[in-house]
Amino acid sequence: MLTKDVDVLIIGGGPAGAASGITLLQCPELKVAIVEAGDYETTRVGESLSPGTRPLLEYLKVWDDFQAQQSLQSYGSKAAWGSDQVHSLDFLFTAQGHGWHLDRSKFDRMLAASFQKRGGEVYSRCRFTRAERKQAQWLVHVVDEREGLRQFLCRYVIDATGRNARFAHHQGVRKQYHDHLSAVVRYGHIDTKTSAGLGLESFVFVASCDYGWWYYAPLPGQQLALMLMSDSDIISQRQLHLPSSWQQHFEAIPAICEPLAQVQWQQHSRVVPAYSSSLNRYSGEAWVACGDAAVSFDPLSSSGIPNALASGIQAAIVAANHVLVNEDTSSAYAAALSQDVQQYLNTHQQYYATEKRWPDQVFWQRRQGRVALDPEACISRQHIEQRIEPASSVHLMSGMLAGLKRECREGRPMHEVVRAFKAKHDSVPDQKIILALQDLMQGSAV
Ligand SMILES: Cc1cc2nc3c(=O)[nH]c(=O)nc-3n(C[C@H](O)[C@H](O)[C@H](O)COP(=O)(O)OP(=O)(O)OC[C@H]3O[C@@H](n4cnc5c(N)ncnc54)[C@H](O)[C@@H]3O)c2cc1C
Repeated sequence: MLTKDVDVLIIGGGPAGAASGITLLQCPELKVAIVEAGDYETTRVGESLSPGTRPLLEYLKVWDDFQAQQSLQSYGSKAAWGSDQVHSLDFLFTAQGHGWHLDRSKFDRMLAASFQKRGGEVYSRCRFTRAERKQAQWLVHVVDEREGLRQFLCRYVIDATGRNARFAHHQGVRKQYHDHLSAVVRYGHIDTKTSAGLGLESFVFVASCDYGWWYYAPLPGQQLALMLMSDSDIISQRQLHLPSSWQQHFEAIPAICEPLAQVQWQQHSRVVPAYSSSLNRYSGEAWVACGDAAVSFDPLSSSGIPNALASGIQAAIVAANHVLVNEDTSSAYAAALSQDVQQYLNTHQQYYATEKRWPDQVFWQRRQGRVALDPEACISRQHIEQRIEPASSVHLMSGMLAGLKRECREGRPMHEVVRAFKAKHDSVPDQKIILALQDLMQGSAV
Protein backbone atom coordinates (compact mmCIF):
# COMPACT_ATOMS: atom_id res chain seq x y z
CA MET A 1 0.00 0.00 0.00
CA LEU A 2 1.23 3.51 -0.90
CA THR A 3 1.98 5.60 2.21
CA LYS A 4 2.83 9.27 2.08
CA ASP A 5 4.20 11.45 4.89
CA VAL A 6 3.03 15.07 5.12
CA ASP A 7 2.72 17.71 7.84
CA VAL A 8 -0.84 18.71 7.03
CA LEU A 9 -3.36 16.70 5.01
CA ILE A 10 -6.33 18.62 3.64
CA ILE A 11 -9.33 16.47 2.81
CA GLY A 12 -11.41 18.13 0.07
CA GLY A 13 -10.05 20.35 -2.69
CA GLY A 14 -12.87 22.89 -3.12
CA PRO A 15 -12.38 26.62 -2.40
CA ALA A 16 -11.92 26.07 1.36
CA GLY A 17 -9.37 23.27 0.99
CA ALA A 18 -7.38 25.09 -1.70
CA ALA A 19 -7.36 28.33 0.35
CA SER A 20 -6.05 26.37 3.35
CA GLY A 21 -3.36 24.74 1.24
CA ILE A 22 -2.17 27.96 -0.40
CA THR A 23 -2.03 29.70 3.00
CA LEU A 24 -0.06 26.84 4.60
CA LEU A 25 2.49 26.92 1.79
CA GLN A 26 3.45 30.43 2.89
CA CYS A 27 5.50 28.45 5.45
CA PRO A 28 8.11 26.83 3.15
CA GLU A 29 9.04 24.19 5.74
CA LEU A 30 5.58 22.60 5.62
CA LYS A 31 4.70 19.61 3.45
CA VAL A 32 1.04 19.84 2.50
CA ALA A 33 -1.22 17.62 0.38
CA ILE A 34 -4.87 17.73 -0.68
CA VAL A 35 -6.95 14.61 -1.31
CA GLU A 36 -9.92 15.35 -3.54
CA ALA A 37 -12.71 12.92 -4.40
CA GLY A 38 -13.45 14.51 -7.79
CA ASP A 39 -11.36 15.55 -10.77
CA TYR A 40 -12.59 19.14 -11.40
CA GLU A 41 -14.08 18.02 -14.73
CA THR A 42 -17.74 17.58 -13.78
CA THR A 43 -20.10 20.54 -13.31
CA ARG A 44 -20.08 22.11 -9.83
CA VAL A 45 -22.83 24.34 -8.45
CA GLY A 46 -22.37 27.78 -6.84
CA GLU A 47 -21.50 30.20 -9.58
CA SER A 48 -21.95 33.81 -8.40
CA LEU A 49 -18.99 35.47 -6.78
CA SER A 50 -19.73 38.62 -4.79
CA PRO A 51 -17.49 41.69 -5.19
CA GLY A 52 -16.20 41.36 -1.59
CA THR A 53 -14.29 38.18 -2.58
CA ARG A 54 -11.54 40.12 -4.35
CA PRO A 55 -9.44 40.88 -1.21
CA LEU A 56 -9.43 37.15 -0.36
CA LEU A 57 -8.22 36.23 -3.85
CA GLU A 58 -5.56 38.94 -3.56
CA TYR A 59 -4.47 37.64 -0.15
CA LEU A 60 -4.08 34.18 -1.70
CA LYS A 61 -2.14 35.75 -4.59
CA VAL A 62 -4.44 34.17 -7.16
CA TRP A 63 -6.02 37.41 -8.38
CA ASP A 64 -4.02 37.49 -11.64
CA ASP A 65 -4.85 33.84 -12.38
CA PHE A 66 -8.50 34.55 -11.62
CA GLN A 67 -8.59 37.54 -13.96
CA ALA A 68 -6.99 35.48 -16.72
CA GLN A 69 -10.02 33.13 -16.52
CA GLN A 70 -12.31 35.77 -18.01
CA SER A 71 -15.33 35.06 -15.87
CA LEU A 72 -18.46 36.97 -16.74
CA GLN A 73 -18.87 40.25 -14.84
CA SER A 74 -21.91 40.42 -12.60
CA TYR A 75 -23.55 43.77 -11.91
CA GLY A 76 -25.89 42.71 -9.12
CA SER A 77 -29.23 41.04 -8.65
CA LYS A 78 -32.86 41.62 -9.54
CA ALA A 79 -35.58 40.21 -7.34
CA ALA A 80 -39.33 39.80 -7.37
CA TRP A 81 -39.37 39.18 -3.63
CA GLY A 82 -42.12 40.51 -1.36
CA SER A 83 -44.21 41.50 -4.39
CA ASP A 84 -44.40 40.89 -8.14
CA GLN A 85 -42.51 44.10 -8.69
CA VAL A 86 -38.86 43.62 -9.64
CA HIS A 87 -36.28 45.42 -7.46
CA SER A 88 -32.63 45.80 -8.44
CA LEU A 89 -29.63 45.67 -6.19
CA ASP A 90 -26.79 47.09 -8.19
CA PHE A 91 -23.22 46.17 -7.15
CA LEU A 92 -21.98 49.21 -9.02
CA PHE A 93 -23.37 51.43 -6.27
CA THR A 94 -21.32 49.59 -3.66
CA ALA A 95 -17.72 50.51 -2.84
CA GLN A 96 -16.49 47.10 -4.06
CA GLY A 97 -17.64 47.28 -7.70
CA HIS A 98 -18.87 44.32 -9.73
CA GLY A 99 -18.91 40.60 -8.97
CA TRP A 100 -18.55 37.59 -11.31
CA HIS A 101 -20.44 34.65 -12.77
CA LEU A 102 -18.15 31.65 -12.75
CA ASP A 103 -17.56 28.39 -14.44
CA ARG A 104 -17.24 26.76 -10.98
CA SER A 105 -15.22 23.72 -12.07
CA LYS A 106 -12.74 26.03 -13.77
CA PHE A 107 -12.55 28.29 -10.70
CA ASP A 108 -11.93 25.35 -8.33
CA ARG A 109 -9.37 23.92 -10.79
CA MET A 110 -7.56 27.28 -10.91
CA LEU A 111 -7.28 27.36 -7.09
CA ALA A 112 -6.00 23.77 -6.95
CA ALA A 113 -3.46 24.52 -9.71
CA SER A 114 -2.20 27.56 -7.75
CA PHE A 115 -1.67 25.31 -4.74
CA GLN A 116 0.29 22.85 -6.90
CA LYS A 117 2.40 25.62 -8.47
CA ARG A 118 3.58 26.53 -4.95
CA GLY A 119 4.72 23.00 -4.19
CA GLY A 120 1.54 21.38 -2.84
CA GLU A 121 0.40 17.94 -4.00
CA VAL A 122 -3.16 17.27 -5.13
CA TYR A 123 -4.41 13.67 -5.16
CA SER A 124 -7.56 13.85 -7.26
CA ARG A 125 -10.13 11.02 -7.50
CA CYS A 126 -9.04 10.04 -4.00
CA ARG A 127 -11.76 9.62 -1.40
CA PHE A 128 -11.18 9.77 2.35
CA THR A 129 -12.68 6.77 4.12
CA ARG A 130 -11.32 6.66 7.68
CA ALA A 131 -8.52 7.77 9.99
CA GLU A 132 -6.87 6.61 13.18
CA ARG A 133 -4.46 8.14 15.71
CA LYS A 134 -1.00 6.52 15.67
CA GLN A 135 1.73 7.85 17.99
CA ALA A 136 0.52 11.48 17.95
CA GLN A 137 -0.05 11.36 14.18
CA TRP A 138 -3.03 10.66 11.95
CA LEU A 139 -3.04 7.64 9.68
CA VAL A 140 -5.57 8.57 7.01
CA HIS A 141 -7.03 5.96 4.65
CA VAL A 142 -8.04 6.96 1.17
CA VAL A 143 -9.48 5.09 -1.82
CA ASP A 144 -7.68 6.14 -4.99
CA GLU A 145 -9.84 5.36 -8.05
CA ARG A 146 -6.72 4.53 -10.09
CA GLU A 147 -4.25 3.06 -7.58
CA GLY A 148 -6.49 1.34 -5.03
CA LEU A 149 -5.87 2.06 -1.36
CA ARG A 150 -3.55 4.83 -0.14
CA GLN A 151 -2.46 5.96 3.31
CA PHE A 152 -1.27 9.34 4.54
CA LEU A 153 0.66 9.85 7.75
CA CYS A 154 0.28 13.43 8.95
CA ARG A 155 0.46 15.64 12.02
CA TYR A 156 -2.70 17.60 11.32
CA VAL A 157 -5.89 17.19 9.26
CA ILE A 158 -8.09 19.91 7.78
CA ASP A 159 -11.63 18.79 6.95
CA ALA A 160 -12.71 20.72 3.83
CA THR A 161 -15.10 18.09 2.46
CA GLY A 162 -18.02 20.52 2.01
CA ARG A 163 -21.47 19.82 3.45
CA ASN A 164 -20.48 16.15 3.90
CA ALA A 165 -18.06 17.07 6.73
CA ARG A 166 -16.69 13.54 6.32
CA PHE A 167 -13.76 13.76 8.72
CA ALA A 168 -15.68 15.62 11.46
CA HIS A 169 -18.48 13.03 11.29
CA HIS A 170 -15.88 10.29 11.45
CA GLN A 171 -14.74 11.92 14.73
CA GLY A 172 -18.32 11.69 16.03
CA VAL A 173 -19.13 15.39 15.63
CA ARG A 174 -22.76 16.13 14.85
CA LYS A 175 -24.23 18.78 12.62
CA GLN A 176 -26.99 21.26 13.46
CA TYR A 177 -29.37 21.64 10.53
CA HIS A 178 -30.88 25.12 10.47
CA ASP A 179 -33.23 24.16 7.62
CA HIS A 180 -33.67 21.48 4.95
CA LEU A 181 -33.31 23.57 1.82
CA SER A 182 -32.47 21.75 -1.43
CA ALA A 183 -31.98 22.95 -4.99
CA VAL A 184 -33.33 21.42 -8.18
CA VAL A 185 -30.60 22.50 -10.60
CA ARG A 186 -30.95 22.69 -14.36
CA TYR A 187 -28.54 24.08 -16.92
CA GLY A 188 -29.38 25.51 -20.31
CA HIS A 189 -27.77 27.02 -23.37
CA ILE A 190 -28.57 30.51 -24.60
CA ASP A 191 -28.27 30.78 -28.34
CA THR A 192 -26.09 33.80 -29.31
CA LYS A 193 -28.60 34.90 -31.94
CA THR A 194 -31.56 34.88 -29.58
CA SER A 195 -29.81 36.02 -26.39
CA ALA A 196 -29.48 39.67 -27.43
CA GLY A 197 -32.20 41.71 -25.82
CA LEU A 198 -33.33 38.99 -23.42
CA GLY A 199 -31.91 40.95 -20.50
CA LEU A 200 -30.18 37.85 -19.11
CA GLU A 201 -26.72 39.32 -19.48
CA SER A 202 -25.15 39.96 -16.14
CA PHE A 203 -27.65 39.87 -13.33
CA VAL A 204 -28.83 37.14 -11.02
CA PHE A 205 -32.62 37.02 -10.98
CA VAL A 206 -34.57 35.79 -7.95
CA ALA A 207 -38.34 35.27 -7.69
CA SER A 208 -40.16 33.93 -4.64
CA CYS A 209 -43.24 31.69 -4.80
CA ASP A 210 -45.49 29.91 -2.31
CA TYR A 211 -43.24 26.82 -2.00
CA GLY A 212 -39.79 28.54 -2.10
CA TRP A 213 -37.95 30.58 -4.69
CA TRP A 214 -36.33 30.32 -8.09
CA TYR A 215 -33.19 31.93 -9.39
CA TYR A 216 -31.20 32.04 -12.56
CA ALA A 217 -27.74 33.28 -13.36
CA PRO A 218 -25.91 33.54 -16.69
CA LEU A 219 -22.65 31.58 -16.90
CA PRO A 220 -19.61 31.99 -19.17
CA GLY A 221 -19.94 30.35 -22.60
CA GLN A 222 -23.61 31.25 -23.21
CA GLN A 223 -24.73 28.92 -20.42
CA LEU A 224 -27.36 29.57 -17.80
CA ALA A 225 -28.02 27.98 -14.40
CA LEU A 226 -31.59 27.81 -13.14
CA MET A 227 -32.34 26.66 -9.59
CA LEU A 228 -35.57 25.94 -7.84
CA MET A 229 -35.08 26.19 -4.08
CA SER A 230 -37.43 24.51 -1.60
CA ASP A 231 -37.36 22.18 1.39
CA SER A 232 -36.55 18.56 0.62
CA ASP A 233 -39.96 17.29 1.85
CA ILE A 234 -41.81 19.87 -0.32
CA ILE A 235 -39.69 18.87 -3.33
CA SER A 236 -40.71 15.24 -2.92
CA GLN A 237 -44.39 16.00 -2.13
CA ARG A 238 -44.72 18.15 -5.26
CA GLN A 239 -42.36 15.89 -7.26
CA LEU A 240 -40.38 18.94 -8.32
CA HIS A 241 -37.47 16.70 -9.29
CA LEU A 242 -39.54 15.06 -12.06
CA PRO A 243 -39.44 16.81 -15.49
CA SER A 244 -43.23 17.05 -15.99
CA SER A 245 -43.92 18.55 -12.57
CA TRP A 246 -40.86 20.81 -12.84
CA GLN A 247 -42.14 22.12 -16.20
CA GLN A 248 -45.60 22.77 -14.79
CA HIS A 249 -44.20 24.74 -11.82
CA PHE A 250 -41.73 26.59 -14.08
CA GLU A 251 -44.50 27.72 -16.42
CA ALA A 252 -46.55 28.98 -13.48
CA ILE A 253 -43.93 31.65 -12.65
CA PRO A 254 -44.00 34.18 -15.52
CA ALA A 255 -41.16 36.27 -14.01
CA ILE A 256 -38.91 33.24 -14.52
CA CYS A 257 -40.28 31.38 -17.52
CA GLU A 258 -40.92 34.35 -19.85
CA PRO A 259 -37.34 35.66 -20.07
CA LEU A 260 -36.08 32.06 -20.36
CA ALA A 261 -38.46 30.99 -23.14
CA GLN A 262 -35.61 30.68 -25.69
CA VAL A 263 -33.25 28.68 -23.47
CA GLN A 264 -32.40 25.16 -24.65
CA TRP A 265 -32.51 23.13 -21.46
CA GLN A 266 -30.37 20.12 -20.72
CA GLN A 267 -32.53 17.07 -20.39
CA HIS A 268 -31.76 16.27 -16.78
CA SER A 269 -32.06 18.25 -13.61
CA ARG A 270 -30.45 17.19 -10.35
CA VAL A 271 -31.25 17.80 -6.71
CA VAL A 272 -28.45 19.04 -4.45
CA PRO A 273 -28.53 19.88 -0.75
CA ALA A 274 -28.47 23.60 0.01
CA TYR A 275 -29.31 23.60 3.72
CA SER A 276 -27.82 25.91 6.33
CA SER A 277 -25.88 24.06 8.99
CA SER A 278 -23.11 24.31 11.54
CA LEU A 279 -21.06 21.67 13.35
CA ASN A 280 -21.42 21.22 17.09
CA ARG A 281 -17.63 21.34 17.30
CA TYR A 282 -15.29 22.87 14.72
CA SER A 283 -12.08 21.16 15.80
CA GLY A 284 -10.63 18.32 17.85
CA GLU A 285 -7.30 16.67 18.55
CA ALA A 286 -5.04 17.78 15.67
CA TRP A 287 -7.88 18.54 13.25
CA VAL A 288 -10.06 21.48 12.24
CA ALA A 289 -13.01 21.89 9.84
CA CYS A 290 -13.51 24.78 7.43
CA GLY A 291 -15.76 25.94 4.57
CA ASP A 292 -19.14 24.23 4.19
CA ALA A 293 -17.85 21.36 6.30
CA ALA A 294 -17.88 23.73 9.29
CA VAL A 295 -20.74 26.08 8.41
CA SER A 296 -22.97 26.13 5.33
CA PHE A 297 -25.21 28.97 4.16
CA ASP A 298 -28.38 29.49 2.15
CA PRO A 299 -27.38 30.25 -1.48
CA LEU A 300 -29.58 33.36 -1.23
CA SER A 301 -26.78 34.93 0.81
CA SER A 302 -24.19 34.41 -1.99
CA SER A 303 -21.69 34.06 0.81
CA GLY A 304 -20.68 30.39 0.47
CA ILE A 305 -17.50 30.84 -1.58
CA PRO A 306 -16.13 33.92 0.25
CA ASN A 307 -16.81 32.22 3.58
CA ALA A 308 -15.15 29.02 2.40
CA LEU A 309 -12.04 30.97 1.34
CA ALA A 310 -11.95 33.01 4.58
CA SER A 311 -12.45 30.05 6.92
CA GLY A 312 -9.98 28.00 4.83
CA ILE A 313 -7.34 30.68 5.44
CA GLN A 314 -8.15 30.83 9.18
CA ALA A 315 -8.11 27.03 9.53
CA ALA A 316 -4.65 26.97 7.90
CA ILE A 317 -3.40 29.41 10.54
CA VAL A 318 -4.78 27.15 13.30
CA ALA A 319 -3.05 24.14 11.69
CA ALA A 320 0.27 26.00 11.25
CA ASN A 321 0.23 27.15 14.88
CA HIS A 322 -0.27 23.56 16.00
CA VAL A 323 2.39 22.03 13.76
CA LEU A 324 5.07 24.73 13.94
CA VAL A 325 4.83 26.15 17.47
CA ASN A 326 2.62 23.59 19.22
CA GLU A 327 0.08 26.26 20.06
CA ASP A 328 -3.68 25.57 20.08
CA THR A 329 -5.60 28.53 18.63
CA SER A 330 -8.69 26.53 17.70
CA SER A 331 -10.93 28.04 20.38
CA ALA A 332 -10.54 31.59 18.97
CA TYR A 333 -11.32 30.16 15.51
CA ALA A 334 -14.42 28.38 16.86
CA ALA A 335 -15.61 31.51 18.69
CA ALA A 336 -15.35 33.57 15.48
CA LEU A 337 -17.31 30.93 13.52
CA SER A 338 -20.03 30.75 16.19
CA GLN A 339 -20.41 34.52 16.04
CA ASP A 340 -20.68 34.38 12.21
CA VAL A 341 -23.40 31.71 12.49
CA GLN A 342 -25.46 33.78 14.93
CA GLN A 343 -25.16 36.85 12.73
CA TYR A 344 -26.04 34.84 9.64
CA LEU A 345 -29.15 33.31 11.27
CA ASN A 346 -30.41 36.77 12.29
CA THR A 347 -29.92 38.21 8.79
CA HIS A 348 -31.48 35.10 7.26
CA GLN A 349 -34.59 35.46 9.44
CA GLN A 350 -34.90 39.19 8.66
CA TYR A 351 -34.56 38.65 4.92
CA TYR A 352 -37.13 35.85 4.73
CA ALA A 353 -39.49 37.92 6.92
CA THR A 354 -39.71 40.56 4.17
CA GLU A 355 -41.75 38.12 2.03
CA LYS A 356 -45.25 38.37 3.53
CA ARG A 357 -47.44 36.97 0.73
CA TRP A 358 -47.72 33.36 1.90
CA PRO A 359 -48.01 33.35 5.73
CA ASP A 360 -49.92 30.04 5.66
CA GLN A 361 -47.36 28.17 3.52
CA VAL A 362 -45.06 25.84 5.41
CA PHE A 363 -41.90 26.91 3.53
CA TRP A 364 -42.35 30.48 4.77
CA GLN A 365 -43.68 29.57 8.21
CA ARG A 366 -40.50 27.59 8.85
CA ARG A 367 -38.42 30.70 8.18
CA GLN A 368 -40.56 33.44 9.62
CA GLY A 369 -41.41 32.28 13.15
CA ARG A 370 -41.09 35.09 15.70
CA VAL A 371 -40.16 34.32 19.28
CA ALA A 372 -42.69 35.84 21.69
CA LEU A 373 -42.31 33.30 24.51
CA ASP A 374 -41.23 34.65 27.90
CA PRO A 375 -38.28 32.45 28.96
CA GLU A 376 -39.07 33.03 32.67
CA ALA A 377 -42.78 32.09 32.38
CA CYS A 378 -43.63 28.76 33.98
CA ILE A 379 -45.68 25.89 32.59
CA SER A 380 -49.14 26.16 34.14
CA ARG A 381 -51.78 23.52 34.89
CA GLN A 382 -53.83 25.00 32.04
CA HIS A 383 -50.94 24.35 29.62
CA ILE A 384 -50.77 20.74 30.77
CA GLU A 385 -54.52 20.28 30.54
CA GLN A 386 -54.53 21.36 26.90
CA ARG A 387 -53.83 17.72 26.13
CA ILE A 388 -53.50 18.05 22.39
CA GLU A 389 -51.83 15.03 20.96
CA PRO A 390 -48.78 16.44 19.20
CA ALA A 391 -48.50 15.35 15.58
CA SER A 392 -45.94 17.77 14.24
CA SER A 393 -45.12 21.42 14.19
CA VAL A 394 -43.54 23.32 11.30
CA HIS A 395 -40.52 23.64 13.56
CA LEU A 396 -40.10 20.06 14.89
CA MET A 397 -41.04 16.64 13.56
CA SER A 398 -43.60 14.56 15.48
CA GLY A 399 -41.19 12.36 17.48
CA MET A 400 -39.23 15.35 18.69
CA LEU A 401 -42.38 17.34 19.46
CA ALA A 402 -43.59 14.49 21.68
CA GLY A 403 -40.20 14.60 23.44
CA LEU A 404 -40.53 18.34 23.97
CA LYS A 405 -44.00 17.89 25.42
CA ARG A 406 -42.61 15.34 27.90
CA GLU A 407 -40.29 18.06 29.24
CA CYS A 408 -43.28 20.36 29.95
CA ARG A 409 -43.94 19.83 33.67
CA GLU A 410 -46.07 22.12 35.80
CA GLY A 411 -44.08 24.96 37.37
CA ARG A 412 -41.06 24.46 35.11
CA PRO A 413 -39.77 27.70 33.50
CA MET A 414 -39.73 27.71 29.69
CA HIS A 415 -35.95 28.21 29.51
CA GLU A 416 -35.47 25.04 31.58
CA VAL A 417 -37.73 23.07 29.25
CA VAL A 418 -35.62 24.26 26.30
CA ARG A 419 -32.36 23.43 28.09
CA ALA A 420 -33.56 19.94 29.11
CA PHE A 421 -34.71 19.16 25.56
CA LYS A 422 -31.48 20.55 24.10
CA ALA A 423 -29.43 18.28 26.38
CA LYS A 424 -31.01 15.29 24.60
CA HIS A 425 -31.15 16.77 21.08
CA ASP A 426 -28.10 18.99 20.79
CA SER A 427 -28.24 19.21 17.00
CA VAL A 428 -31.59 21.05 16.99
CA PRO A 429 -31.12 24.85 16.85
CA ASP A 430 -32.38 26.72 19.93
CA GLN A 431 -34.70 28.87 17.88
CA LYS A 432 -36.54 25.83 16.49
CA ILE A 433 -37.06 24.40 19.99
CA ILE A 434 -38.35 27.73 21.30
CA LEU A 435 -40.73 28.19 18.37
CA ALA A 436 -42.06 24.63 18.71
CA LEU A 437 -42.57 25.18 22.47
CA GLN A 438 -44.39 28.40 21.66
CA ASP A 439 -46.68 26.44 19.30
CA LEU A 440 -47.34 23.90 22.06
CA MET A 441 -48.17 26.59 24.61
CA GLN A 442 -50.56 28.24 22.17
CA GLY A 443 -52.09 24.87 21.33
CA SER A 444 -51.24 25.36 17.66
CA ALA A 445 -48.93 22.40 17.20
CA VAL A 446 -51.30 19.81 15.87
C1 LIG B 1 -27.51 25.29 -5.18
C2 LIG B 1 -26.34 26.06 -4.61
C3 LIG B 1 -26.03 27.31 -5.13
C4 LIG B 1 -24.95 28.04 -4.60
N1 LIG B 1 -24.68 29.28 -5.11
C5 LIG B 1 -23.65 29.99 -4.60
C6 LIG B 1 -23.32 31.26 -5.14
O1 LIG B 1 -23.95 31.73 -6.09
N2 LIG B 1 -22.28 31.95 -4.58
C7 LIG B 1 -21.57 31.46 -3.52
O2 LIG B 1 -20.65 32.14 -3.04
N3 LIG B 1 -21.86 30.24 -3.00
C8 LIG B 1 -22.87 29.49 -3.51
N4 LIG B 1 -23.13 28.27 -3.01
C9 LIG B 1 -22.31 27.74 -1.90
C10 LIG B 1 -20.92 27.31 -2.38
O3 LIG B 1 -21.02 26.45 -3.48
C11 LIG B 1 -20.21 26.61 -1.22
O4 LIG B 1 -20.32 27.41 -0.07
C12 LIG B 1 -18.73 26.36 -1.51
O5 LIG B 1 -18.60 25.47 -2.60
C13 LIG B 1 -18.05 25.78 -0.29
O6 LIG B 1 -16.74 25.44 -0.58
P1 LIG B 1 -16.02 24.23 0.19
O7 LIG B 1 -14.66 24.15 -0.34
O8 LIG B 1 -16.24 24.38 1.65
O9 LIG B 1 -16.87 22.95 -0.20
P2 LIG B 1 -17.08 22.29 -1.64
O10 LIG B 1 -17.04 23.29 -2.71
O11 LIG B 1 -18.31 21.45 -1.49
O12 LIG B 1 -15.81 21.36 -1.78
C14 LIG B 1 -15.68 20.19 -1.02
C15 LIG B 1 -14.74 19.27 -1.78
O13 LIG B 1 -14.51 18.10 -0.99
C16 LIG B 1 -14.53 16.98 -1.83
N5 LIG B 1 -14.88 15.81 -1.00
C17 LIG B 1 -16.08 15.51 -0.45
N6 LIG B 1 -16.02 14.34 0.23
C18 LIG B 1 -14.74 13.91 0.11
C19 LIG B 1 -14.02 12.77 0.57
N7 LIG B 1 -14.63 11.82 1.32
N8 LIG B 1 -12.72 12.64 0.26
C20 LIG B 1 -12.09 13.57 -0.49
N9 LIG B 1 -12.70 14.68 -0.98
C21 LIG B 1 -14.00 14.85 -0.67
C22 LIG B 1 -15.56 17.31 -2.89
O14 LIG B 1 -15.34 16.57 -4.07
C23 LIG B 1 -15.33 18.80 -3.09
O15 LIG B 1 -14.42 19.09 -4.12
C24 LIG B 1 -24.19 27.51 -3.53
C25 LIG B 1 -24.49 26.24 -3.03
C26 LIG B 1 -25.56 25.53 -3.57
C27 LIG B 1 -25.87 24.16 -3.01
